[in-house]
Amino acid sequence: MTKTRTLLLLAIVAVGVMTALAQKEYKSGIVFPEPAVVTPGKTDHEPPSDAVVLFDGKDLSKWKGGEKWEIKDGYAVVKGGDITTKDSFGDYQLHIEFATPEVVKGSGQGRGNSGVFLANRYEVQVLDSFDNKTYFDGQCGSLYKQTPPMVNACRKPGEWQSYDILFTAPRFDEGAKDVKVLKPGYVTVIHNGVCVQNHFELLGNTNYDKPPAYEKHPLKQPIRLQNHGDLVKYRNIWIREIKPLEGKKPQ
Ligand code: MG
Repeated sequence: MTKTRTLLLLAIVAVGVMTALAQKEYKSGIVFPEPAVVTPGKTDHEPPSDAVVLFDGKDLSKWKGGEKWEIKDGYAVVKGGDITTKDSFGDYQLHIEFATPEVVKGSGQGRGNSGVFLANRYEVQVLDSFDNKTYFDGQCGSLYKQTPPMVNACRKPGEWQSYDILFTAPRFDEGAKDVKVLKPGYVTVIHNGVCVQNHFELLGNTNYDKPPAYEKHPLKQPIRLQNHGDLVKYRNIWIREIKPLEGKKPQ
């Protein structure tokens, strides 16, 4: 190696070392609590260790009106009215599995209709939308009369399907006389592993006969499952309340 080449090599090494020394790790300075350990379920159906199981296939004792629904072979069938959780929840991740009737009857909104009402008033539509046309903002996976699902991810009638729903409850000005929305609600829906709603900003209650509008309600509300006269089945329902970790910046 010539002297010039050796010097060049040394210079390259020296620049490398200096660059490495000049790099400093960025630290936000925010002190976060340690995230809690959660053991996931063995499959995507099973509840994680911190979930509240709302229906495990045996009984609907956590639901008002649950005694009316029929329970068999690990699932519940819609019958005789809506059912509503006895407990209330704020912001959450909800897992729920459903199957629309295997024997296809009716059409449009009259085929395999039910619904998951977040905060007892914002409906994620449950419908047999497999080869069954209806208005798009009323098909399976829609936020009823507010927005259609981005895609139709329905399985065939009779097959088990899943919703994984992320719900951020709206915040209201408690002190205001009228309805004053401080922050709207948001809904994300994964249908059979496919994202059909991405952080959709709720416009208010999902009504059949009038435009959506918010009504003031406490942060925590029950969840309601709809009886629409069709023999829709449900199983494996669990929920996790969720909350971002709050960090503190030292003074
Ligand atoms: Mg419905």
